[in-house]
Amino acid sequence: MSRSSYKRILLKLSGEVLMGPGQFGIDSETVARLAQEVKAAKDSGFELCLVIGGGNIFRGIAGAASGMDRTAADYMGMLATVMNALAFQDALEKIGVDTRVQSAIPMATVCEPYIRRRAMRHMEKGRIVIFAAGTGNPFFTTDTASALRAAEMGCDALFKGTSVDGVYNADPKQDPTATRYESLSFNRVLSDNLKVMDAAAVALCRDNHIPIVVFNIREQANLALVLSGQGTATIVGK
Ligand code: UDP
Repeated sequence: MSRSSYKRILLKLSGEVLMGPGQFGIDSETVARLAQEVKAAKDSGFELCLVIGGGNIFRGIAGAASGMDRTAADYMGMLATVMNALAFQDALEKIGVDTRVQSAIPMATVCEPYIRRRAMRHMEKGRIVIFAAGTGNPFFTTDTASALRAAEMGCDALFKGTSVDGVYNADPKQDPTATRYESLSFNRVLSDNLKVMDAAAVALCRDNHIPIVVFNIREQANLALVLSGQGTATIVGK
């Protein structure tokens, strides 16, 4: 399946993308811009579901490093993803996109609990589903949650929108000679320990034949380009 023939996709946004030019939290202008791009993707015929990280607010590992119990810190991280999901839902609904948030940690007065068949139904009705609270388990990440939900929802691909335009052989911010890969195999990512997604997420995508497309979502209008098979990205596949 070529990149331009994907129909149903899971879009993973790292929490830091929501900070915009800031250093922390949620920048409403940035969220509004991203929501417009997601709407445009939906209007052009894609079926979309989303997972949003929480790193712009709280990461469990940082909490643990400052002395917190890791599991408590991870639950805080998962709650941070719920805040991001609600912010994104708000932005989407403001521009007329029917959206549902489903949380892996049930919180009945805030959003729906994660129920796979219900999520499927929402997507069939043209709604965008945002999966919040990661996998609901500590010691995991929202990357793993993205791979898991992409498999459960039968997605053709997982698009990881981040702050760099793909996967490099070294950190492009530190090393000016770093070069970007056009494509890579899952096994190469795992054996070379390349920073695409954590290993559990990559293995889950490999085992379920879900390609990962890594691209820069901070660049305006890039989502549409990358979804149409153009634009700069790295594709991780078999
Ligand atoms: N988290 C977790 N289990 C999950 C998903 C997330 O414990 O299944 C916690 C973990 O502490 C993580 C935080 O939520 O650091 C925020 O998620 P992540 O770091 O993946 O966000 P991103 O880096 O994508 O912004």
